[in-house]
Amino acid sequence: MSRCLITGGAGFIGSSIAEYLLEEGHDVTILDNLSTGRDLNLQGIRDHERLTIRVGSITDSVLLTEVMAGQDEIYHMAAAVGVKLVADDPVRTIETNIYPTELLLRQAMHGGQKVFLASTSEVYGKNTKDSWVEEDDLQFGPTSKPRWAYGCSKAIDEFLALAYHQKYGLPVVIGRFFNVVGPRQVGNYGMVVPRFVESALQGIAPTVYDDGEQVRCFGHVSEVVRCVVGLMRKENLEHNLFNIGSDQPISIRELAERVVALVDPSLEIKYVPYKDYYGHDFEDVRRRVPNTNRLKETLGFKPVMTLDEILKDTIAAKKLALGLS
Ligand code: UDP
Repeated sequence: MSRCLITGGAGFIGSSIAEYLLEEGHDVTILDNLSTGRDLNLQGIRDHERLTIRVGSITDSVLLTEVMAGQDEIYHMAAAVGVKLVADDPVRTIETNIYPTELLLRQAMHGGQKVFLASTSEVYGKNTKDSWVEEDDLQFGPTSKPRWAYGCSKAIDEFLALAYHQKYGLPVVIGRFFNVVGPRQVGNYGMVVPRFVESALQGIAPTVYDDGEQVRCFGHVSEVVRCVVGLMRKENLEHNLFNIGSDQPISIRELAERVVALVDPSLEIKYVPYKDYYGHDFEDVRRRVPNTNRLKETLGFKPVMTLDEILKDTIAAKKLALGLS
């Protein structure tokens, strides 16, 4: 059994990794400052005898060094997340997404620890390829547009991780998450599925930005977690970098229609310009569809949950959280 540290372990994906690793019998330590992560996400595991929770920031280098000592595996999930949040505070983004990752990698190199680095489909930037994006299809957006700060900061993290791997043989796995959804996700930071579900459950029509023809693929967090841990367990990986998520595209218009059909068909979907939400014109990613062949070939992974199953699971959980049943 391993000792595993999850930075950002109180987040939506981090807490799901914690549950999975505890279930497998490992010792788990969570480091989280509970900014975007929530204590509520740890409700089911808070009192687990093999879980240690440390409340603090990854920007506290003394604390980070202390919690990393003695661990076998590091799941680096902590980051400033959400395009809007990151664009609104670019300095915090650098402080959270870049410096601590460098320290963490350096420490892991000294400690002989294996690292999973959570990255994002945002690194594909302005890629407009109308088929699937493969791992090397990066096309950065301009640095003058804060919208791209998140993707650029995570791309730097990827460079750092691969640099430590190349120079020092540090074992690293980088996972680029594509629109991960599930019960505990909240809609405060953009995240379209919880926003649509929460608003429909409260009798308010979902708000679609622009024409709704932008395309995404939604993967269930439980399947994503299986991929993350599966990649960490795999010996002699041929690659260090993987797209992780579903590859089944759906337009945001159709997503809104499905949510409304499942929750309250009487609701009339609203279409608004981007600037009503972002306060200015927004460079959205019109199409975000991963090529997941590398993941499939490496793990034999194939997502099994359909979008309707994912939505029903999310709706049921939100009803409970909102006290509706
Ligand atoms: N979106 C929307 N209404 C909302 C929230 C998001 O129409 O209330 C759109 C957003 O403009 C984007 C898509 O849904 O085109 C996915 O947004 P999200 O923030 O969930 O993911 P990302 O854009 O980071 O892939």
